[in-house]
Amino acid sequence: MGFGGFDIFNTFFGHRRAQRYGVQRGADLRYDMEIILEDVSSGLEREINVSRREICEVCNGSGAEPGTQPKQCPQCKGTGQVQHVRSTGFARFVQITRCNACRGKGRIVESKCKSCRGSGLVSRTRKISVKIPKGIESGSRLRLSRQGEAGEQGGPSGDLYVVIYVKHHKIFQRSNSNILCDIPIGFTQATLGAEINVPTLNGKVKLRIPKGTQTHTIFRLKGKGLPRLHGYGRGNELIRVIVRTPKKLTSKQKQLLTKLAKELGETVSKKKGFFK
Ligand SMILES: [Zn+2]
Ligand SMILES: [Zn+2]
Repeated sequence: MGFGGFDIFNTFFGHRRAQRYGVQRGADLRYDMEIILEDVSSGLEREINVSRREICEVCNGSGAEPGTQPKQCPQCKGTGQVQHVRSTGFARFVQITRCNACRGKGRIVESKCKSCRGSGLVSRTRKISVKIPKGIESGSRLRLSRQGEAGEQGGPSGDLYVVIYVKHHKIFQRSNSNILCDIPIGFTQATLGAEINVPTLNGKVKLRIPKGTQTHTIFRLKGKGLPRLHGYGRGNELIRVIVRTPKKLTSKQKQLLTKLAKELGETVSKKKGFFK
């Protein structure tokens, strides 16, 4: 050390030098999976194909042809780093960079493994089984620990994240563990009462519409919703009935309705239509 000099890097970041640059954790991977609302209801297990880099089986990740050994890098003496010392006036700076000779690995492979071309890693496609819990929300991430890419130089593997998207359902809307749907009914059914078939996630069930039901009335099918992710039981199915007004009537239907209107004391248009 020079006169009055001080070694900034070693003083403050000295601990970093202990770390080998070559050892790296593998990258995390992401897989987007689309499921349907029925899958949320029942839960499912699905196999996915994941392409990832794995440790080469031939050289065990060393990158050296079997029977040979990688040798210590003479440039950095196996540390993977080189020091550049710079002096400006009284200060002496030590800059540490990655060794170019071995690209930070600390070792040099002279006869490269033919299987991985010396990288120690090979690309593989694996079938991985993913268990999707009941009641999962769209946008949830499932973490499969250590199923990502292999690390370099013996570093740990990354994780695999499976991101779940629940497809839009053509009948049901979701609200947490409840499902909602609109069901049209005729105005005579609403007036006189009826028993109608309504869809659920497990086929059709009968729903009794009491007489005098108003449009937009909501009926609840208890326990016909989705399983609660963090809890017991299921949510409900909420059915909103929409009372339809007939648009076209035969003359006989019109006569009957006109009689009904008179009976109810309601005034109705007598002419065929305003524009005719
Ligand atoms: Zn290899
Ligand atoms: Zn080196």
